[in-house]
Amino acid sequence: MSVNQGASRDAVRMPGGEAPFYQPVGNEVEIFETAYRKRLPVMLKGPTGCGKTRFVEYMAHRLSRPLVTVACHEDLTSSDLVGRFLLEGAETVWQDGPLTTAAKVGAFCYLDEIVEARTDTTVVIHPLTDHRRHLPLEKRGEEIEAHKDFMLVISYNPGYQTVLKDLKPSTKQRFVALTFDYPPEEKEIPIVARESGLDQALAAKLVAAARKARNLKDHGLQEVTSTRALVYAGSLISGGVPPLEACLVAIVNPQTDDPELVEALMEIFRAHL
Ligand code: ADP
Repeated sequence: MSVNQGASRDAVRMPGGEAPFYQPVGNEVEIFETAYRKRLPVMLKGPTGCGKTRFVEYMAHRLSRPLVTVACHEDLTSSDLVGRFLLEGAETVWQDGPLTTAAKVGAFCYLDEIVEARTDTTVVIHPLTDHRRHLPLEKRGEEIEAHKDFMLVISYNPGYQTVLKDLKPSTKQRFVALTFDYPPEEKEIPIVARESGLDQALAAKLVAAARKARNLKDHGLQEVTSTRALVYAGSLISGGVPPLEACLVAIVNPQTDDPELVEALMEIFRAHL
């Protein structure tokens, strides 16, 4: 769930119901649990659509913590995170932002694609990452101490970064960084099958094709075929769309506008499906 500015009242998602399905790839679950016990903030590094968000949802459920997710964007201000005064009738009332809400209630706060936010926004999280775990609410002239169970998690896609847009080293070094990538074949097949409703044999063909397609990264593709795209294609196939049509609309078209690259990618999918 994403939280937009001023939407902090709806921001907290309580754990409950069934655990989200997450297939661990390495020792990320154990490391995250230890970081949580030691109150260390965590950064999830990796390409889009490889399981970072699902992992946080799973961990929040596993550790019985509410989750507050903020999809960061370039217009996100520090007030969007921390809070602001709003006019209600003749009165001005303070409304906590999602970061403040999470710090107060002891939720996990997941700042997705933090690098999209402006640097002056990013620095508001610094005091929450040091041992005092405090959050200055400058506009209120107040400082709050984070709840003992509060945890800050950020995601970061190194592939998108340019010299102009990168996280400051002073921000990065405040986090324990877990590296994510598309799962290995033997794990990606059951993930795609389970998430999309495809049988294992067809999921295996999709994954094999994707692994070939990912090699085209060096040929001008900014993005490669993600696990998410495979799940989308698989879902269309299990919903009755012919397999190659599904690969075209769910994997290839969103990835490139270049007709030659479209053809090169479709060649790979035709060879496998
Ligand atoms: P990210 O946050 O890295 O962009 P997501 O967490 O949204 O990516 O993952 C995209 C989709 O891929 C998920 O909705 C899920 O269906 C699937 N997925 C990827 N990795 C895993 C995994 N290890 N276990 C379960 N599902 C996964």
